[in-house]
Amino acid sequence: RRKKIVEECETLMDNPEHIRNIAIAAHVDHGKTTLTDNLLAGAGMISDETAGEQLAMDTEEDEQERGITIDAANVSMTHEYEGDNHLINLIDTPGHVDFGGDVTRAMRAVDGALVVVDAVEGAMPQTETVLRQALREGVKPTLFINKVDRLISELQEGPEEMQRRLLNVIDDVNELIRGMTEEMDDIEDWTVSVEEGTVGFGSALYKWGVSMPSMQRTGMDFAEIMELERADERQKLHEKTPLSDVVLDMVCEHFPNPIDAQPMRIPRIWRGDADSELADTMRLVDEDGEVVLMVTDIGVDPHAGEIAAGRVFSGTLEKGQDLYVSGTVGTNRVQSVGIYMGGEREEVDRVPAGNIAAVTGLKDAIAGSTVSSVEMTPFESIEHISEPVITKSVEAQNMDDLPKLIETLQQVAKEDPTIQIEINEDTGEHLISGQGELHLEVIGQRIERNQGIPINTGEPIVVYREAPQQPSREVEGISPNRHNRFYISIEPMDDEIVETIKKGEASMDMPELERREALQEAGMDKETSQDIEHIHGTNVLVDQTKGIQHLNETMELLIEGLEDALDDGPLAAEPVQGALLRLHDARLHEDAIHRGPAQVIPAMREAVHNALIDAEIRLLEPIQDVRIDVPNDHMGAASGEIQGRRGRVDDMYQEGDLMVVEGIAPVDEMIGFSSDIRSATEGRASWNTENAGFQVMADNLQPDKISEIRERKGMKQELHPAIDYF
Ligand code: GDP
Repeated sequence: RRKKIVEECETLMDNPEHIRNIAIAAHVDHGKTTLTDNLLAGAGMISDETAGEQLAMDTEEDEQERGITIDAANVSMTHEYEGDNHLINLIDTPGHVDFGGDVTRAMRAVDGALVVVDAVEGAMPQTETVLRQALREGVKPTLFINKVDRLISELQEGPEEMQRRLLNVIDDVNELIRGMTEEMDDIEDWTVSVEEGTVGFGSALYKWGVSMPSMQRTGMDFAEIMELERADERQKLHEKTPLSDVVLDMVCEHFPNPIDAQPMRIPRIWRGDADSELADTMRLVDEDGEVVLMVTDIGVDPHAGEIAAGRVFSGTLEKGQDLYVSGTVGTNRVQSVGIYMGGEREEVDRVPAGNIAAVTGLKDAIAGSTVSSVEMTPFESIEHISEPVITKSVEAQNMDDLPKLIETLQQVAKEDPTIQIEINEDTGEHLISGQGELHLEVIGQRIERNQGIPINTGEPIVVYREAPQQPSREVEGISPNRHNRFYISIEPMDDEIVETIKKGEASMDMPELERREALQEAGMDKETSQDIEHIHGTNVLVDQTKGIQHLNETMELLIEGLEDALDDGPLAAEPVQGALLRLHDARLHEDAIHRGPAQVIPAMREAVHNALIDAEIRLLEPIQDVRIDVPNDHMGAASGEIQGRRGRVDDMYQEGDLMVVEGIAPVDEMIGFSSDIRSATEGRASWNTENAGFQVMADNLQPDKISEIRERKGMKQELHPAIDYF
């Protein structure tokens, strides 16, 4: 059976009209895994009975144990629709907000996103996040409202009440879609509707689904269908209107195939020359064009080693090809190509444009790489909605494991670019930074269990930022030999400009004109945008000097000094963000020997720190949006948990039979929240947090926090004497 499916897939791979590349996106627990298993069972990939138990998508052991989906895994299946066989490549996305980076990468590879929403809970914060991630990438949404059985069994609702509730869910989702696509010129109307067939509903647990076409086909109306569920005749329902058919029909009918999708998606994700032949072959999904693969995920197979998975936008991938990997030098040779079947990889001879491929041999590729048979402008860097806010130290219990631990950490960083790793080979104490407590906990468990390396982890440490608060005067930095001087000033940049840089919408990798335009649109004045010499993190260096001798040859060193200074801010050696640096003047020694690294780097470093201090630099802390769903009588305890953490409750309202408490609190204070809220509400609360960026800490809290961080880092306690503003 399996062999037959692989053969079917191989035939279909050459027929892009009949391919759909899709993702299922949902808030945690809304039923994505159960639904996916149903689809696989419907397509004959796993048996009906084991669907739901097998959890085919959750391949990593820790995912099955926790019952949440962490790594984006891939599966392909076939489905017959209107007489034609279709190949459906499904990319799994994690439902927990801590794994946001994986979701964004998965969206890059697909053209359609099936958004799953629990009928009782409705659209939740993570629903909004995944929807935003899909729409930003130009991925078309459809909606499946799951757990409709709960409306009958738990809420005892009649057909009219149920219809009203389902329509409310649809309205909420449409409001989100409308808000997010308003300013997107290339998207007309992507709202979903029952009449058009872009909405389905049903029960993944009981394996039935309903949509307008399925109602028309079976001749049953809504009330009749609900009566079968109420009367416990689910088997009949499943036979008449099976979930997998309803959903996969919707996928084939309403999601674009690669030929329809790529002309719209390529301009969104690729900034290379739109008139080039390469642009043409990508738009046309030309399997005879140059090979272009966008890597969305790196996995490890115990036998085959590292596997790069991603979308082939042009050309045909084959074994033995030598391919360029963006950001690296030279080429990698393709060892094998394959496709995914129910979480397992099947080697095939070739994978043409429009498909999702699994490739071995691309040893330099990381998640996000562009891999191609000619050197090319890489795809836009994938936008990560959140940046790391929490760090933990990791060390091997057994020093013999050190090399293996380092290798594993490097692997982890390759697989998940939202993780940052700092390796310290001398002390053996490494730092991993990620999106939240759970994110790091899972990574730690993977190292222990999958690699068998016993580790000790430290307490979670929050990541801070430093940022200038007002324009500085012009300040000077002098080299140790006193022969080189730099004159700079620093000013804070508008949030909108910082956001634009953070999202990768303005970077040094893009053509200068586009960068200028993006920055001007965000509010930067024209002249400044024209003089940009360098961008580091969210900081910008503007060179306003004219005709200074030797400056060009010294620029690289100057930038090194600048980056040093920005990576370790003057307050607590935390990264600086949102600083605009203007280089006004420079004195350089005639003789190259007297303006080497040992002179220029410290001079620039000093200049930058002096200017930051004069710009009244402050410490920023990461904050989180918090949402708690809780029964009425525990509402006070729940809001108390937010307020007691230097937090703020912004809103409280009734939703269904629960109260919702919404607020915001610093990440630092949120450590340990999960156990505290559990005991405060007798385990009756469900809650969510989402990183919401960085915020300046109150002045009265700054000195203690700075001193605490400095102590932890083994820095001396005295601050620079010019920091007198606390
Ligand atoms: P995921 O986190 O989105 O992957 O959600 P899962 O598929 O793991 O489902 C979460 C929980 O909801 C599990 O206990 C499922 O058995 C249950 N569940 C999933 N679909 C349904 C449904 O249609 N009806 C009901 N009553 N429960 C469901």
